[in-house]
Amino acid sequence: MRVVQFREKNGPLELVERDIPKPGMGTVRIKVEACGICHSDVFVKEGAFPEMTYPRVPGHEVAGVIDAVGDRVEGWTVGQRVGVGWYGGHCGHCDSCRRGDFITCSFPKIPGITFDGGYAEYMIAPAQALAMIPNELSAVEAAPLMCAGITTFNALRNSGARASDLVCILGLGGLGHLATQFAAKMGYNPVVIARGKDKEPLAKKLGARHYIDSTSQDCAAELQKLGGAKVILSTVTNGKAMTPLIGGLAVNGKLLVVGIGKEPLEVSSLAIISKRNTIEGWPCGTAADSQDTLEFCSMTGVRSMNHIYPLEKASEGFDLMMSGKAKFRVVLKMH
Ligand SMILES: [Zn+2]
Ligand SMILES: [Zn+2]
Repeated sequence: MRVVQFREKNGPLELVERDIPKPGMGTVRIKVEACGICHSDVFVKEGAFPEMTYPRVPGHEVAGVIDAVGDRVEGWTVGQRVGVGWYGGHCGHCDSCRRGDFITCSFPKIPGITFDGGYAEYMIAPAQALAMIPNELSAVEAAPLMCAGITTFNALRNSGARASDLVCILGLGGLGHLATQFAAKMGYNPVVIARGKDKEPLAKKLGARHYIDSTSQDCAAELQKLGGAKVILSTVTNGKAMTPLIGGLAVNGKLLVVGIGKEPLEVSSLAIISKRNTIEGWPCGTAADSQDTLEFCSMTGVRSMNHIYPLEKASEGFDLMMSGKAKFRVVLKMH
């Protein structure tokens, strides 16, 4: 089979041939049909996880078909269409796992990090990590929902916002263009904040009722004119872009962070105390949450906008993703 791997830390992506692996106990083999390229794949290149070894095949936005089933796998059979996301299984014995909170497991399995991921024609995945893909979604449609989709979907549905609440999406990129659709379809009153007036038509098309241009408007003041945001979902990577928005939160409003940036967040304590505001992070979700995401998208028509590349051009696709110029996700299609 053909796979695309990082041979070494900070090395280039390279296409190589490998033997097709056999599934071991508790795992299945997936014939991969599509795999999204996510910004977090840069952690594989940079070796950001100390336990990581090379060579390593990245990819945690996988969609394909079960092609072989290992021993002691219940409920999954050859031919089922499945997806695998950032959650690749949990240890079962750490404190979080003992309390049933699998996504915060201390020893998580992560595709493309702790085992080989989906930039490949076949991959082995723990049965724990599988989500069923509904017939209405193609593999290319399903793949980006396995990380960008579930992260925003699951953050929003657990945010405490209720139907009709003003929910602000900060950033209109890979995560933001999905979050905007989710916020609209979940019955919130979505307001999008992005850079420049030119993004307004797309934001409105994706379901935003209001649009604020962060380059020419006072975002916090504009949010307050709309009554204040119950939730601001931050999908941007720039910590400094988030700070001024806290003034746009409603009483008991929450800044919900899903975009990963390198610089720290700066927050005025007075600003969060006076309105009892909170700042919270959200880490994607489990395989069951992924399956809910796929079902929701199948029911409501939420879709990712994708650039599609063949596996052998993974490196080009990776560069496009890193450039920040993708509109909006990059997906590898295997055949
Ligand atoms: Zn990701
Ligand atoms: Zn655990």
